[in-house]
Amino acid sequence: MYIQPQMNLRPDYHPDLTVVLLGTGSPRAFYGRAKPGAAVLAGDKTFLVDCGGSTVDQLIKAGIMPQRISDVLFTHHHYDHNGGFFDLFITSWRTHITAEHVFEGRSVPMQVYGPETTKTIIGKMRESFEFDVNLRISYNLSDEAGSLIEYTECNEGVIYDKDGIRITAFEVDHRPVYPAIAYKFEYNGKTVVISGDTIPVANTEKHAAGADLLVHEAYNKSWLDALIRQYPKHGKALSNPAKYHTTTLEAAGIAQRAGVKHLLLTHHIPAPVANKAAEEAYIEGMAGIYAGPITVGRDLMVFELK
Ligand SMILES: [Zn+2]
Ligand SMILES: [Zn+2]
Repeated sequence: MYIQPQMNLRPDYHPDLTVVLLGTGSPRAFYGRAKPGAAVLAGDKTFLVDCGGSTVDQLIKAGIMPQRISDVLFTHHHYDHNGGFFDLFITSWRTHITAEHVFEGRSVPMQVYGPETTKTIIGKMRESFEFDVNLRISYNLSDEAGSLIEYTECNEGVIYDKDGIRITAFEVDHRPVYPAIAYKFEYNGKTVVISGDTIPVANTEKHAAGADLLVHEAYNKSWLDALIRQYPKHGKALSNPAKYHTTTLEAAGIAQRAGVKHLLLTHHIPAPVANKAAEEAYIEGMAGIYAGPITVGRDLMVFELK
């Protein structure tokens, strides 16, 4: 075997609602923590929630070929959530051939969902790809339909309802980034809510009520306060997360009030080392608020809701 095969390929069909964490980091540059994002698999569909800088590499590591992606759902337009879109857009459109597989490139327009502002921001990005896109059509003979984007902007409401898969967008609060939204996925009797970036809001509790899995962003306030004491000169930058994110203890409160079955933390600030001791310290105090299982998300973790 001389040609690099695709490893750990996930099945084409997922009978159970499945969440793959692609990145559990933040805008900060932490080793082993890609920019935040998740793939949600249901039936033969693969939805991408956010598209940060390492999305294509993380998809390949997760065994999900980028060619499967024709639906990208943005929560908001901070760069850690959209910076990988150029790579994803072109890579998903290219046919990729190994000795064992042919992964046909996307031959349909990319479906892009997001809050208002999405068409303007992603549209400008798409304009910047035009030079490469034209070469791929004229020289590489890529399917022209794949060069297009169709947009669905919606801050609140059902954005997808087909083949038993329903996706609902709802507003959260990440101001000054406005609007910012979260997504609820329902499939085969199971429900997942992905919070996006937000302070604690009642809307999340409402939509996550009884959910099987709540993927919520969180930062550890005492760890951040310790860094501020250590580096007072950088106090303003370090204290920014407190203005528009959720503390670990607040996330526990949301999970408890919503009665979710499992709380999965992501978008860690500051990111803990991916080991048991560090993660237990990171979630200190949460168990006293929320009695259910709490998982500190790591990149490439998979959750199959059976
Ligand atoms: Zn973010
Ligand atoms: Zn953000």
